[in-house]
Amino acid sequence: MSGVRQKITALGRCVRTFLLDTVYPENALCRACGTAVKTGCLCDACRERLRNDGAAFSWIPRQLDGVSAYALRRHEGLPRALVIRLKHHAEACVAAELAALVRPVPAFLSFPENTVVTWVTMPRSRRRERCIDHGQCLAAAVARELGLDCAQLLLRTDSRGKTQASLNREKRERNLERVFAPAGPIRRPVLLVDDVMTTGTTARRCIAALREGGATDITVLTVTCP
Ligand SMILES: [Zn+2]
Repeated sequence: MSGVRQKITALGRCVRTFLLDTVYPENALCRACGTAVKTGCLCDACRERLRNDGAAFSWIPRQLDGVSAYALRRHEGLPRALVIRLKHHAEACVAAELAALVRPVPAFLSFPENTVVTWVTMPRSRRRERCIDHGQCLAAAVARELGLDCAQLLLRTDSRGKTQASLNREKRERNLERVFAPAGPIRRPVLLVDDVMTTGTTARRCIAALREGGATDITVLTVTCP
C-alpha cells in the first residue's frame, strides 16, 4: 500500500472512531456484543465470559532467554477479538478490560513495589497509522491494576518498522535486529507488557535492550499467546 493510501486509511479510521464515540458516547455499548453497558466497555455477561474464556491457560510460565514469560489467555475467542479491537480499531478502552485479567496474580509470582511496567515501543510511522499506541495503553492499564509505575524504557531506532505479523521466524529476527535501545539506565525490576506473543522474537529483542540498559530482573507478560 502506498504511503498516501496508508495515511488516508488511517485518517478514515480515526474519523470513524471519533464519529462512533460522538454518536455513541464512550462506554455506552459493549465492544463484544453491542448491548448497553454501565461501566467500562464490556457488559457484565461479556466481562464474565472474558474472565472464564481460557482462564486455565493463564500464567503458565515459558522461558525466553532466561526470562519468565507469561500469557493471560490463548489467542482465540473473545480475548483475541478484543486484542484486535484494541490494536487495529484504536479502541483504547478495551485495554482496561484486558488488563483486569492480571488479577489475581498467582501466589508463586510477586512484583516488588519498585517494579516499573513498560511496553514494546512502536515505530512512529505505525503509531500514526493506528492512532493509538496499544502497547502503551495496555502497559498503563496493567500498571494501574498492579499499583505499579509505568514508564517508557525502550527507544525505537527505526522510524518505519515493518509489521511482524506477515513475516516468518527468520525474517522476524532480521526485521527487529538492533531496533530497540534502552532509554536510559535501568535499576529497577521491569515488567514488559505486550498484546500477543507469537514466536517471542520481539520480546527477546526487548529483553536484550533492557539488559543493555542495566536491567537484571525482567518479567514478560502478554495478554494472549497461541
Ligand atoms: Zn456484551
